[in-house]
Amino acid sequence: MKPIAANLLCASCRENYWALIRQLGHVQLPALSSIMLKQAHIGATGHAPSRGSAPMPIDTRAQALITDSEAWLAEQAGKINARYSNLPWDKAWKKITANKHTILSMSTAADDYTALEHISRRNETALTPEEAMVIIGTCPQCGHQATSTPQADEWTCPHCKWQGGVQAIKATRDNKLWQLEYTGKPVEVARYLSKMDIHCTSDQIRQWLTRGKLHATPTKHKGEYVFNLGEITAMLDCHN
Ligand SMILES: [Zn+2]
Ligand SMILES: [Zn+2]
Repeated sequence: MKPIAANLLCASCRENYWALIRQLGHVQLPALSSIMLKQAHIGATGHAPSRGSAPMPIDTRAQALITDSEAWLAEQAGKINARYSNLPWDKAWKKITANKHTILSMSTAADDYTALEHISRRNETALTPEEAMVIIGTCPQCGHQATSTPQADEWTCPHCKWQGGVQAIKATRDNKLWQLEYTGKPVEVARYLSKMDIHCTSDQIRQWLTRGKLHATPTKHKGEYVFNLGEITAMLDCHN
């Protein structure tokens, strides 16, 4: 029997891969370019970047992301036809989208897909507004607060450049939740937890309170309690 080629993509990977390609040229690169132009403009007029600008939500340079994205497109276009490897990114992208079958059945497709996934995630992080970011924990090396998009599975510290998996950072954070208290109403603690990508509803919390499942202490303010965050996440774990 012939072994299945390691680089063959299954149907769902092919679909995801194609969606990432479309998104790269259709959404991400134009958005990154406009951010870069704004930054260039701010630099030229001599304003401090903190005033009147639309700063990148995290410390990532739009130009570096654009360069990586363009290099990926040039490489793929060059595999379709060597002459295409010097095209500007938008033309290279058009050649790629016009050669769907060739791109998806390329012998290097699995590796190209992996490389694009990485590029796409970094772009997505840079393009996600700060309020949509979640706090995943802290950098194990320098203690800097770690925020990322909810989908990310890798994190790079903007401060010390430490790199690691999001799940491991979250696990460390979750172990420390037992030491953390939050004072507020059920709706407030639910909102606070959602910033950490931990999702429960205020109804759930109220139910647990009524049933005596949480050892939350009421404060002198109506409807307000001192919650132990570890206790809430433990309740969530056994109800999911
Ligand atoms: Zn697959
Ligand atoms: Zn760090």
